[in-house]
Amino acid sequence: MHDVMASRSHAQAKLNTVVDVIAEGLNSEVCSIYLLREGMLELFATKGLAQEAVHVTRMAIGEGLVGTIAQGNETLNLAEAAAHPDFSFRPETGEEKYHSFAGVPIVRRERAVGVLCVQHADPRRYEEVEIEALQTVAMVLSELIANADLVDEEAAAALSPEMTGPQRLTGQSLVKGLAAGVTVFHQPRITIEHVMAEDRDAELQRVYLAFDKMREQIEKMAAQAEFGVGGEHEEVLETYKMFAYDEGWSRRIIEAIDSGLTAEAAIERVQQRTRMRMRQIDDPLLADRMHDLEDLSNRLLRIVSGQMGTAASMGLRQDSILIARNLGPAELLEYDKRRLKGVVLEEGSLTAHVVIVARAMGIPVLGRVRGLRATVREGDPLLLDGDQGIVTVRPLPAVAEAFEARFAKNKERQAAYAALRDVEPFTRDGTRIKVMMNAGLRDDMPNLALTGADGVGLFRTEFQFLVSATLPARERQTRLYRDVLDAAGDKPVVFRTVDIGGDKVLPYLRHNDGEIEENPAMGWRALRVALERDGLLKVQARALLEATAGRTLNVMFPMVSEPWEFDAARAVFDGQLRFLKQQKKLLPEAIRYGVMLEVPALAEQLDIIAPQLSFLSIGTNDLTQFLFAADRSHAKLAERYDWLSPAILRFIRRVLQGVAGHNVDVTVCGEMGGRRLEALALLGIGIHRLSITPASVGPIKELVRKVDLAEIGEAMNGWLLSPPPNLREALTAWALERGIDCD
Ligand code: PEP
Ligand code: MG
Repeated sequence: MHDVMASRSHAQAKLNTVVDVIAEGLNSEVCSIYLLREGMLELFATKGLAQEAVHVTRMAIGEGLVGTIAQGNETLNLAEAAAHPDFSFRPETGEEKYHSFAGVPIVRRERAVGVLCVQHADPRRYEEVEIEALQTVAMVLSELIANADLVDEEAAAALSPEMTGPQRLTGQSLVKGLAAGVTVFHQPRITIEHVMAEDRDAELQRVYLAFDKMREQIEKMAAQAEFGVGGEHEEVLETYKMFAYDEGWSRRIIEAIDSGLTAEAAIERVQQRTRMRMRQIDDPLLADRMHDLEDLSNRLLRIVSGQMGTAASMGLRQDSILIARNLGPAELLEYDKRRLKGVVLEEGSLTAHVVIVARAMGIPVLGRVRGLRATVREGDPLLLDGDQGIVTVRPLPAVAEAFEARFAKNKERQAAYAALRDVEPFTRDGTRIKVMMNAGLRDDMPNLALTGADGVGLFRTEFQFLVSATLPARERQTRLYRDVLDAAGDKPVVFRTVDIGGDKVLPYLRHNDGEIEENPAMGWRALRVALERDGLLKVQARALLEATAGRTLNVMFPMVSEPWEFDAARAVFDGQLRFLKQQKKLLPEAIRYGVMLEVPALAEQLDIIAPQLSFLSIGTNDLTQFLFAADRSHAKLAERYDWLSPAILRFIRRVLQGVAGHNVDVTVCGEMGGRRLEALALLGIGIHRLSITPASVGPIKELVRKVDLAEIGEAMNGWLLSPPPNLREALTAWALERGIDCD
């Protein structure tokens, strides 16, 4: 306690000196310091105003010029103070004689904790260098007052209601689900420990090195996959590069160091100044660029301060929701899965790699949430509703309770489903339904045991390609496939050869001609790429054959449209098999080939292809978009066509009829099969094998056990023969009558 008092009186003395020095230096009659105490800005020191006003004059946040500066965290520079609409006269200060006024906020952790201002009897605007001098002093003061414990930092948060009260932000739901946790910024804010430098040359050296390192990082990013993916990212990187090599920026930082600041303080100082200038320009394009510079400035700060890590490297201590502008898939994978409950992105899109990975990990993601950083602070409680696309910041107790109730209901259900883990999914009339799961990463495999799924009905091998910066070498592919098979034990795994292209763009695998596709989903993707670049398929075939030596290989080809494509793909496998035989390598015990039915055309040639197949998997995600000519990632179209449309169900039923008698297992592996009502309809038309997202395995098993196949079969027959106006409604009513909950 004694120490605090001592340091406070020492600080007070310092403040008194500072106002004298500044007043003199800026040739001003008045210099004052206001600090935040008990939610008010209190005059702590002044040169020029009445000394009786010290510790007496207090301004509310937002009141008068001083309050305005603190509230907006902005600088004011006025020739005629009284002409400003926020001017408020305080007689006890005796300031009526002064005309010009300039003030800057004293900032601590991005919040104003005080104001430093000067006044002059002549009506003149202060020069820019004078304002900069004030800003520099304000930085030094910020360190001083924090050390002396002069302001209540918590009270500083009270400055802006949007930073304290509950807030609801909306965005685009990228991965559904509910999550609650505390805010963690992917790139934490840097705290600047020291403002004044002891050794100017050393600081210069640090900043030069940091610039070199930052430029190196940017170059590397540009050359790397995850960040270099078309459009938006490339533009951002171009801007980054432009800033990183901007002479003006580095020169200003060096000048700030020359004025006595540490490298950190100089970077921050220049950033503050830029922020201030940009604030006056109301242009959305420039605001975006500003964001980039801010990002880069933070990067430089992280390098120079050695506070390099992302939140992942520091570890999550409790249930957390990650906030980032954008993330790479690999970055997401660095987080502790047990504690990472959700992700909120300022950017992001349905097809972003990170979203594909998050979906596979079962982590809800909300994207395109604007104004996040201005609303949320590290540690704030958040509720993420990925179903409705809402994030609630600092929720009111009632909101949190309602959320908790929904959450608890979800959990209860999950627990009930988990209890079904070892229960086999037989229908009421005794048919064993195969309920398998979809996977794509090593990390997905523990779900097999957790859910009790019958195997992996779709292993999306392109995920490894998506999370890698370069084409994964054959050894890495082999290792992954082997690990996956080991993890699966006795349960089968169906490997799908890479489905890249379309919306899953790999920058290291571009068109020969670099052409931009107008319709990527119907473009150069999947097997079409693999057959043209047969080196890619050869490598994957070798990897799959080697990984399954002594076991059964189940392999299927995506987007097969015509039988010859299957033949060509199979020929690549046969070629590799011959090679391995020659090499006297151990071969797979059996190889089962299959295709995905995603392109409607293939349904017309089933009689030709079926004799060659062991299985066929209906990819309803793509099939639906082609059947309805409706882009699957188009937000407006997503809800337009119902999976319970007679068109889809009749189509799938025809596929079943098309392979009947051919000993071909038919599975549905699109998202559709993971929804209870849709799964009920599929069972009704004769689908007995589903491969679905792991979270759906429990709910679908439970459903299966309630269903009488003969009964739903009859109902579906009737409905498909003469469809009711709304099949979904009819099916829902049917299910409810039988006590089958289908939401
Ligand atoms: C599908 O299209 O239904 C499918 C399962 O494949 P993907 O979602 O990977 O395109
Ligand atoms: Mg598909």
